[in-house]
Amino acid sequence: MIEFAQTIDKFALVCAGCGERYEASVAHCPKCPGALLRADYAATAFEPLARDDLFRFLPWLPFHDPVETAIGPVVYRSERLAFHLGMSNLAVGFNGYAPELGARNATGSFKDYEALPTLLSFRERGLTTAVLASVGNSARAFAHAAVSIGFPITIVVPESALGRLWLPMPPTEDVRLIVLRRSNDYASAIRVAGAFSGRSGLPNEGGARNIARRDGMGTVMLEHARALGELPDHYVQAVSSGTGGIATWEASMRLIRSGGFSDRLPRLHLVQNAPFTPLHDAWTLNAPIRPEENLGEQIRRIDAIAAGVLANRNPPFTIPGGVADALRATHGHTYAVSNDEIEDAQRLFMACEGVPIGPESGAALAALRQALARRTIAANESVLLNVTGNNEALIQRDFELHPIGPWRTIEPDQTSGEALDRWIDNALTS
Ligand SMILES: *Cc1c(COP(=O)(O)O)cnc(C)c1O
Repeated sequence: MIEFAQTIDKFALVCAGCGERYEASVAHCPKCPGALLRADYAATAFEPLARDDLFRFLPWLPFHDPVETAIGPVVYRSERLAFHLGMSNLAVGFNGYAPELGARNATGSFKDYEALPTLLSFRERGLTTAVLASVGNSARAFAHAAVSIGFPITIVVPESALGRLWLPMPPTEDVRLIVLRRSNDYASAIRVAGAFSGRSGLPNEGGARNIARRDGMGTVMLEHARALGELPDHYVQAVSSGTGGIATWEASMRLIRSGGFSDRLPRLHLVQNAPFTPLHDAWTLNAPIRPEENLGEQIRRIDAIAAGVLANRNPPFTIPGGVADALRATHGHTYAVSNDEIEDAQRLFMACEGVPIGPESGAALAALRQALARRTIAANESVLLNVTGNNEALIQRDFELHPIGPWRTIEPDQTSGEALDRWIDNALTS
């Protein structure tokens, strides 16, 4: 296929474990099967295109042909919030929907940067569908991308996510939603999506391993570099899998290698919502991440968090190129914030910047306040605060929201083992 040959020209893959280079077609490093692979783009200079959307960073995205879109990161220097926090150099990455700030992410979060690039890269590789798991925001973003470009996908979600599943346009048959009944659990959705893709042979989207996803998320740091002409000292983001942190580290390395910036990596400050803080515990207490241990207790904690998206029980922490490596390489920090701190932070952002933000973004701002209090960030250092989303806050002002209904539902006793296999065979044939 001509397209695929072009893709091979555009980038190679490099193993984050051993540094070995591979063609763009390999799935993993045979020597380090757990390690992430990274794209190494033929274009090393940082030369954004003359567009005002996500695809201005096309030279560092793993496909050739973009589409028309309004989706893309917005980075601006904050005045009022910075003043309130006593900071002299605070940039806000606004990655939701707020046309008053120039932000037009169709489904209201930075998941929109993962979805379109993923489906466009799949299409260029000759794939015709994808399977993924989500707790809400990715489902919305991938559903929007699927409907926009007419690329059919299957999405597995826990029932607790249904309230977050809408589109600003009517859904089409390109979106098939599998709903895990009476579940709030992302890790179960990931497991069922894996089984569905394994048994059906339909390609799994890949989560943190998907370079289109990571390089799409990395565009927030690229936009900071483009708009403000420099790298920030610090980067603050709420994390679930931590993929955004990994992606930001990778984008920063690319920018530094391009030669136009200082060679100091922005320091990652990653935050989770107490009482569910597996990444924070792993980093600060050396507590191993055990996704299957004390399951009832983990689910209870997930139920208790306000930032419901931050619910991944099995984040890519220790794998080569994963979250621990990103924190080590950038001398990063992690934080745990309470629901009350999040709510305060959401109110503060609204009061200062005049637009509502989601609880995950509130968690990031709450962590920034902790960091200033603890002096892991100094008031005169430069910071990029990632407002990862504001969900439907303003989208429903400008659009009619259409709920995405289930294609199939799975009962709790069908989500593993042979019962799951039988369920999948049934779903595929009926
Ligand atoms: C997915 C998501 C996050 C966490 O992203 P990571 O994959 O862990 O980097 C944070 N905020 C919002 C709004 C999200 O949708």
